[in-house]
Amino acid sequence: MTKTIQFIIRHGKYRHLLFCRRIHQYTVSELFQPLHVRPKDAIVKEESTSLSQKLLVDCGVINCRSNGMFALLPLGQRVITKLMKVIDEEMKLVGAQKMLLPLLTSGQLWRATGRWESTGQELMKVQDRHNKDYVLSPTHEEAITNLVSEVYPLSHRQLPLSLYQITSKFRDEMKPRFGLLRCKEFMMKDLYTFDSSEEAAVTTYNKICGAYDRVFQRIGVPFLKVAGDCGNIGGSFSHEYHYQAAIGEDTLLLCEACGVSTNAELVTNSDDASCDKCGNHMTKTAGIEVGHTFLLGTKYSGPLKASYQNEKGKPELLQMGCYGLGVSRIMAATVEVLSQGDCIRWPWVLAPFKVCLISPKKGSKEASAVSWVAHLADVISSIPGFEDDVIVDDRDTLTIGKRVMKAKEAGYPLIIVVGKAACQDIPLFEVINTKNNDSQILSHKLLSGYLREISREQ
Ligand SMILES: [Zn+2]
Repeated sequence: MTKTIQFIIRHGKYRHLLFCRRIHQYTVSELFQPLHVRPKDAIVKEESTSLSQKLLVDCGVINCRSNGMFALLPLGQRVITKLMKVIDEEMKLVGAQKMLLPLLTSGQLWRATGRWESTGQELMKVQDRHNKDYVLSPTHEEAITNLVSEVYPLSHRQLPLSLYQITSKFRDEMKPRFGLLRCKEFMMKDLYTFDSSEEAAVTTYNKICGAYDRVFQRIGVPFLKVAGDCGNIGGSFSHEYHYQAAIGEDTLLLCEACGVSTNAELVTNSDDASCDKCGNHMTKTAGIEVGHTFLLGTKYSGPLKASYQNEKGKPELLQMGCYGLGVSRIMAATVEVLSQGDCIRWPWVLAPFKVCLISPKKGSKEASAVSWVAHLADVISSIPGFEDDVIVDDRDTLTIGKRVMKAKEAGYPLIIVVGKAACQDIPLFEVINTKNNDSQILSHKLLSGYLREISREQ
């Protein structure tokens, strides 16, 4: 910028531009949201498709790039970002530190723990130009334990140590299905804890599980926490977090009398299982696993020689725990549980935008009310809980009815229509709450109050 222009802006009639709040207005006309795009070569089999896959693809939230591989489109990326924010906030409260490990882990480390062979064909193995083996990591116990072992001597004063990351993970699925629920590449949050004794590791385990409970409570979709199977990860005990859904691939057993629940894999005869605690007959239900926690003990610190220095200056093996959250799976599973028909329903905290504002149709009687749109967008964006959370459907060649339908399909929790009633002496706006399909006609002032109240209730 030249000095002259700077002078004019600073002192001339454009001076106000310097003091304008710079707000970006999201609009549906600019949004990259390819609708109903199916991959050209994929044969979509009905039995391998889920409601969430269909809705997320059709509404332009995700896009299938290859069998079992999905692109997160801008709306999907917003959902994931919101979920990561909830996770990061809860992790901060329990003192966990966020970091990033390489996606490739040396095959040598996986051989050292025996998992190079035991994991089977699901493990994505690659080689570099020097024929060195790597794993496109499905999980990072080897990588993190190796890192911690090489920073020895870790002092007992540095424990407990909790480290986590949110990254892509890989699994060579034989039959990828149900979209993001079972695919080859997915987003996962994985946390690893290191303690000085078994007792301290149990305390840490309970603290982290408490944080995971709060993550799921904040998402707001009812979940089940069950005793889990340690499987290929190993360790002494584990818990799983599940959303109940008919397409869930896990069978869970529930005691309706006392609330105890377990994965059916842990029971020899799941058809006739009775509750350990109260003896009641347990009922079966299907669940989508969205989180899994393990108390590992020294399963990884032993073979990878990860130790710390105790009070007497002697090396001792670290006691570990590991804790996973299926980030992209949570996004799909909540849609699977909450949605019906052609419309996505998001948990309030994850909705890509909380409010969709519909502008008047061009050339219609109410077209003069269009100036309300920018004003309302500005006012709503300044209400706590709605910052950066308003999108305007400005496609004013389409009818209001058509755009309301599209907004319902995309699952925005609140749709606000600037239509005919906005031209009255006291302008009124229709607010549709898509959670219960309730619609109200409110004045500008009442609308702000209503939004504040809804935000507080969540
Ligand atoms: Zn019971």
